[in-house]
Amino acid sequence: MHALIIGGGIIGLSSARYLLEDGWEVTLLEKGDLTDNCSFGNMGYLSPSHFVPLAAPGMVEQGFWWMFDQKSPFYVRLRLSWELADWGLKFIRAANHGHAERSARPLADLLLFSKQLFRQWADAGDMDFGLVERGCMMYFQTEEKEKEELENARKAEQLGLQVDVLGREQVQMLEPDLKPSVRGGVLFKDDAHLYPNALMQQLPVWLEKRGAKIIRNAEVVGFERQNGKISTLHYQLKTQNPKLKTVKPDLVVLAAGSWSPKLARLAGEYLPLMPGKGYSMTVDNPAKRLHYPCILLEAKVALTPWPGRLRIGSTMEIGPINDRILFPRVQGILEAVPRYLPGYLDDPVFRELADLENLRKNVREKVWFGFRPVPADGMPYIGFARKNANLLIATGHAMLGMSLGAGTGKMVAELAAGRPTSVPVEAFDPRRY
Ligand SMILES: Cc1cc2nc3c(=O)[nH]c(=O)nc-3n(C[C@H](O)[C@H](O)[C@H](O)COP(=O)(O)OP(=O)(O)OC[C@H]3O[C@@H](n4cnc5c(N)ncnc54)[C@H](O)[C@@H]3O)c2cc1C
Repeated sequence: MHALIIGGGIIGLSSARYLLEDGWEVTLLEKGDLTDNCSFGNMGYLSPSHFVPLAAPGMVEQGFWWMFDQKSPFYVRLRLSWELADWGLKFIRAANHGHAERSARPLADLLLFSKQLFRQWADAGDMDFGLVERGCMMYFQTEEKEKEELENARKAEQLGLQVDVLGREQVQMLEPDLKPSVRGGVLFKDDAHLYPNALMQQLPVWLEKRGAKIIRNAEVVGFERQNGKISTLHYQLKTQNPKLKTVKPDLVVLAAGSWSPKLARLAGEYLPLMPGKGYSMTVDNPAKRLHYPCILLEAKVALTPWPGRLRIGSTMEIGPINDRILFPRVQGILEAVPRYLPGYLDDPVFRELADLENLRKNVREKVWFGFRPVPADGMPYIGFARKNANLLIATGHAMLGMSLGAGTGKMVAELAAGRPTSVPVEAFDPRRY
């Protein structure tokens, strides 16, 4: 049986891994060359702590006020678009306590399961992607955020997660080089992190060695349908003489990230999902050591330390796919860091980032961006499509694609085989719209 996967991000590659393990003949088509996509420059968090979907209570009001601040971490590029309007309405409808409550358990289960699978990948010893299980620190500066985060910590404990609530002195003891200027923090001990660039470089090689066929520069451009199934798939090879090719797979897995709605439409399906652009910047060898990955909660800025390397990232710009970098938002990220970690950016390795005029000139070299696939209700789409019986959808992981990558791949293989899934999949059904 032949499975064809569209998209070589973490979701497509993980699906390939588990389908291969189940004995499928696997072909993966990727329109790029697999040296960059959203799965590369992200923060590398595996975050069981993130059991609240993006469409959360309070998000609509906060998002509205952020729209007036050029440096804010959230922005919706308003334009006349039926898809955006429909996505927005569905988002507003989902941003309530009931939805957050219903989503917490399925999300937490899949997050924990996925982390366990990543640990298995690391333990197998045939890839080295720097998995570290040390937790993730959430820092707050205001009383309001503290209250919110402590409530989050309480819910996390109810879900079986381990948390430590820490005061200012305690976090300063855990980060002696940086002495965070915060009111306190919550350490989510089940969180972990990995170096996504290493994983994304090694996983295709791992798959090819085991018989998966990965075709780079191959863009899927259309489908033919027969008897309620995709019978034929067309793709364009981007060689010097572009060639149109066809393939007749038994199963199609749509894992094309932010491009998935367009492809879904070509197959007669509807997937409410918008691209959410985010930025990150990486420096080598900062002198002061950050021990824990952390999120600066009010600013929504994240920092991840790896041996000899640090990444800073943030922002969610809901808008079209383009290569525009909104500089004030990059500036907003960099200005937030010293408010929480005083003096950190004084280190010479940050000079090129901290010198904003210089950064503005070299922004394309220094700032990475990727498009998170953001579903209307913040819950990933994992499951069979409505109109095509052999089309499995695996996308919409928003800020959690790395965290949920391995678990999603495993569930794709289980659904393809008609086996019960390792964790309940109902909350992720793409047919909910
Ligand atoms: C700044 C930032 C920080 C983040 N930090 C984290 C984090 O710490 N932890 C976490 O869990 N998540 C994080 N994320 C989110 C995570 O990166 C994404 O959810 C994840 O990478 C999405 O993976 P994907 O495989 O769905 O999509 P992608 O990685 O975008 O892959 C989709 C692939 O499909 C290909 N494709 C598209 N159309 C076609 C076509 N027609 N034919 C063939 N191929 C096609 C694309 O070229 C692309 O390579 C972050 C994101 C950003 C932007």
